[in-house]
Amino acid sequence: MSTDELRRLPGVDRLLGDAALQEMRARYGHHLTVTAARETLAQVRDAVRAGADLPTEGTLVAQVVAHLRERLAPTLHPVINASGVIIHTNLGRSPLSADARAAIESVAAGYSNLEYDLSSGQRGQRTHHAERLLLELTGAESALVVNNNAGAVLLALTHTARGRDVVISRGQLVEIGGGFRVPDVMRQSGAQLIEVGTTNRTHRRDYEQALAEQPDVALILRAHHSNFRLVGFTSEVELAELVEIGAAFGVPVMDDLGSGALLDTAPFGLAHEPTVQESVAAGAALVCFSGDKLLGGPQAGIVVGQADFVEPLKRHPLARALRPDKTCLAALQATLMHYLKEEATDCIPIWRMISAPVEQVARRAQDWQERLRQAGRETQVVDGRSTVGGGSLPGETLPTRLLALDSDNPDRLAAALRTGAPPIVARIGADQLLLDPRTVLPEEDTVLLARLVGELETS
Ligand SMILES: *Cc1c(COP(=O)(O)O)cnc(C)c1O
Repeated sequence: MSTDELRRLPGVDRLLGDAALQEMRARYGHHLTVTAARETLAQVRDAVRAGADLPTEGTLVAQVVAHLRERLAPTLHPVINASGVIIHTNLGRSPLSADARAAIESVAAGYSNLEYDLSSGQRGQRTHHAERLLLELTGAESALVVNNNAGAVLLALTHTARGRDVVISRGQLVEIGGGFRVPDVMRQSGAQLIEVGTTNRTHRRDYEQALAEQPDVALILRAHHSNFRLVGFTSEVELAELVEIGAAFGVPVMDDLGSGALLDTAPFGLAHEPTVQESVAAGAALVCFSGDKLLGGPQAGIVVGQADFVEPLKRHPLARALRPDKTCLAALQATLMHYLKEEATDCIPIWRMISAPVEQVARRAQDWQERLRQAGRETQVVDGRSTVGGGSLPGETLPTRLLALDSDNPDRLAAALRTGAPPIVARIGADQLLLDPRTVLPEEDTVLLARLVGELETS
């Protein structure tokens, strides 16, 4: 295309004179608007040189507006999780309860007594707010909240075992999602790893032998297998027995629970996930777990246990580097309050999802099917399984009912649902697109169905 043609493109000043761009300038500022106009014109020039038609001035203005909007759109935004994975790490793990969200809002907008003791007018401790609830709920003597559980484990190991030995079963040297490997974290903490037993079987005598041979063992570590399950010819030593073995050698036990449930999962048709209370009662000196897995709260790492072991962690420099912010602590406190009031399965979203009977999920799937039928779209309701996720209950699933959509190209339909607004994450099985109502929040139903109607029209 000739350069003559390019001369007919309007300049930045001329474009900015357009009413639509004047409005953009008033809303988003001169700098962003001018930059968007320049960048759009540069792209158009390249396209025209490559043989594209010269756009009209109206098209150019629309392109600048679109460019500006795209640039200003947040990249982190809500997603509808229809995957059936309840604690989905890639989708932000646990949705927060209404109280937890309100608590965030209440401290985010202004000042708070985060580190201020209102009765004395002196400096207070930020993690104190959630800690007293943790003691009440778990029976522990002491508690500490940090930024996440990886940080909690690192802090506890660094303080307690730096330059010393930590005994752990070979069967527990696992890598959990996101590159958290138990051996790597131990090395990072400066602790020396003493592996005992074999991958599938570790016995009491393996621990006893190691403790008898090694003069400087700081801890026995038990780590939850997370999303990995040992099956078949296996054996591990129970926590209470580990505590007993340790006591004979004067060595405390640390338990990395990972998910850290406060409620028993067994009444909901799942295997029993070890609870924090059980680890505390079994005599673990330190128990570490996440805030946003089975606890159902904000991202946080929690250490509870015996005062002699937990209190010193609060004074370690790493505790300062890993400290949680006020919004985290507000949400954590509100989440813990649900357990105290015995309303966790009603109020905490992930526990509502875990405890929803399959008949209730089926009713929602049928309701979705009916509403889509009224919009002229035929779908099916089929049996399926939901998973808990979050490194808890490996291999365990809950029966569910799925809305199944036929499509010539389910991958393309899945991609369209993912990339639209709001994005919907579904799964594909047997050449159908499958949506699990169990993980979709009730208030998302209307927008989910509107998007499905739209996509089924065009696909
Ligand atoms: C998830 C998990 C962690 C890490 O917890 P984050 O809160 O993700 O930092 C550590 N240990 C185990 C066993 C886990 O399952």
